[in-house]
Amino acid sequence: MSEYLKPLPVIQSFSQPFWDAAKDGKLLVQKCNSCGSSIFFPRDRCPECWSEDLGWIEASGKGEIYAFSVTYEGVEKAFKEDLPIVLAWIDLPEGIRMQTNIIDCNPDDVSIGMAVEVTFKKATDDINLPYFKPVSG
Ligand SMILES: [Zn+2]
Repeated sequence: MSEYLKPLPVIQSFSQPFWDAAKDGKLLVQKCNSCGSSIFFPRDRCPECWSEDLGWIEASGKGEIYAFSVTYEGVEKAFKEDLPIVLAWIDLPEGIRMQTNIIDCNPDDVSIGMAVEVTFKKATDDINLPYFKPVSG
């Protein structure tokens, strides 16, 4: 495998469970044990009630495209191999909206409301990055 040259997440103590699960192909969503809010991206306290009593739930991995755009050119060198790039906001049934890339499809086939599912790509030995792709079948 060639060296991964794109930016990588900075893993912190409160986001470590998210990245550990990603290595196992699981998508976790943070949940506040005080007010019940779903939280994404991972944080050290709830953005709704400021509680530090946070837990995790495993997401279904399913989602729906809320909005998207397609980039055909004008990206950093390391991303050129990925063009065209579909950047999207995905609504998850767990109650969060997540920014991600839609992969493994023709960008012309992407539409708002499209059903998508999570897929992971290995970036380094320690990091699997979550992406989404159209639900097959
Ligand atoms: Zn809360």
